[in-house]
Amino acid sequence: MEIEFASLDDSLARFTLSGASTAFANAFRRAMIGEVPTLAIEDVRIYDNTSALFDEMLAHRLGLIPLKTDLSSYTTQETCSCGGAGCPGCTSTYTLSVEGPRTVMSSDLIPQDPKATPVHANIPIVKLTKGQKLVVEARAVLNTGRAHAKWQPILICGYKNHPAISVSDACDACSLCVDECPRGILAVKGKKIQVVEGKLPDCSMCRLCERACLGSGIGDEPAIRIAAEKDRYIFTVESDGSLTVKEIMNRALQYIREQADELEHQLGEISGDEKK
Ligand code: SF4
Ligand code: SF4
Ligand SMILES: [Zn+2]
Repeated sequence: MEIEFASLDDSLARFTLSGASTAFANAFRRAMIGEVPTLAIEDVRIYDNTSALFDEMLAHRLGLIPLKTDLSSYTTQETCSCGGAGCPGCTSTYTLSVEGPRTVMSSDLIPQDPKATPVHANIPIVKLTKGQKLVVEARAVLNTGRAHAKWQPILICGYKNHPAISVSDACDACSLCVDECPRGILAVKGKKIQVVEGKLPDCSMCRLCERACLGSGIGDEPAIRIAAEKDRYIFTVESDGSLTVKEIMNRALQYIREQADELEHQLGEISGDEKK
């Protein structure tokens, strides 16, 4: 199995996964979405709210604000030594106190842990008019997207099979397929059709080129053929900023490895029992 990055920064990665089954590619995608823990606000204590929004709507909005997460500093409440009561090892506390007239922004959330700030400072929470007030205390805990979407560390996580394009000798370079391609993948070079350098991953496999070729009167078989490589996938992963994309990928792979080890261990126990 191999991963080759086309681009990688903290928030966005495009890469090709080769030599993997569809089941593995999907397990990887699902693990990145649902099994990588991040911080999100879970408990909100509202001391004063004279804004136009109900307490429940405010709590919902606060829960959806992405928070920077240092996974080496936090553990889940279930595994924490405090037994889930809430301590600095499993809980990040925030206070917010704003009086109108002005818009309450995510930057108004003051964290106890300076590393666990909101990812973006400019997320509007509620607009206060003159005399309106909002005083809140919030607690964020670590959990995964499997429990609730607010704990998903990703905005986009998808893959498609790597496209493969072949052109047979029957091609007469009429260029109908070039004109038809909506993504500018194809070009005429000399008397041949070629894929524009670096454009192959952008092919959506819509097969409009095949249709155009058939429409040129070439016969029953198009000269150009679009196929999907069975064990090669193009991934796009975008983080919400709580973790870097690399951390998300590493954690997801670690989760898959742990699950496989656990399964192997259980199978070992079963076969051990059978031998007795
Ligand atoms: S399948 Fe669609 S996107 Fe790909 S080369 Fe053909 S027309 Fe272009
Ligand atoms: S439409 Fe068919 S024959 Fe014409 S250039 Fe494309 S592949 Fe070749
Ligand atoms: Zn704790």
